[in-house]
Amino acid sequence: MQRIVININQKEEGKITFNQEQYHYIFRVLRLEIDDNIIALDGVGHSWLLQIKSDHGLIVKEIIENPELPFDVTLLVALPKGNGFDDIVRCCTELGVKTIIPLETERTLLKPSANKILRWRKIAQEAAEQSERLIVPQIGEPVKFTDLFNQEISPLPPLLTEEKQDYNYYICVARGDRQNFLKSLEKGAKNIIIATGPEGGWTEKELELAIQNNFQPVSLGQRILRAVTAPICAMSIISIAAN
Ligand code: SAH
Repeated sequence: MQRIVININQKEEGKITFNQEQYHYIFRVLRLEIDDNIIALDGVGHSWLLQIKSDHGLIVKEIIENPELPFDVTLLVALPKGNGFDDIVRCCTELGVKTIIPLETERTLLKPSANKILRWRKIAQEAAEQSERLIVPQIGEPVKFTDLFNQEISPLPPLLTEEKQDYNYYICVARGDRQNFLKSLEKGAKNIIIATGPEGGWTEKELELAIQNNFQPVSLGQRILRAVTAPICAMSIISIAAN
């Protein structure tokens, strides 16, 4: 939708009066008509949806800035020891994640109880409120790593299907000469599915399986990050790259 920037003095109760320049722009340049909609911005973070009425626009509603990332991010996170997942859920929610799926990998020690999952969902809700997000991230049921690639039961519907083009898949790998995650992101703003491993790392077999299924192995830097730090680091990179 078309936008105009206004001076706050132009705003009165329920309406915004256009100046001559805006009037010309709306009717002559944009060729909009009476009752069409346009967005007015005051340039300092407020915006309104207007319905055009000759020399003024009626305020239909104030538009609340959308704090969500412009694409969906799904984190596949191998469960770390202890309460580490609490921090992952909290921080990654603040950073804009859409879905978090706990992974059981070969080197994962923990099997979470139903209570833990409820607790993570509550943490996600509180963190979403804290960060003034419009959506509360979904915390999925734990999934076995190998089941990600089994179309019948995979929680990733687009995986292995034609819709695949809408998604980029990444797997974070601590060692070896891997492509820098930030650089691989700059290629486009597609939806992201990204996996991070457990304290003991991925097995060779897991890594191979992921790569066979179009996951790109990527690096988050030269240091070995803890299993709790890696997903938070990946989300930080994504949230900055998105702006
Ligand atoms: N014990 C393993 C490291 C595991 S770190 C080893 O010694 O190799 C836990 C997980 O965090 C890894 O499986 C990986 O997914 C992620 N990770 C840690 N550091 C990383 C880095 N520098 N780049 C990419 N991923 C990293």
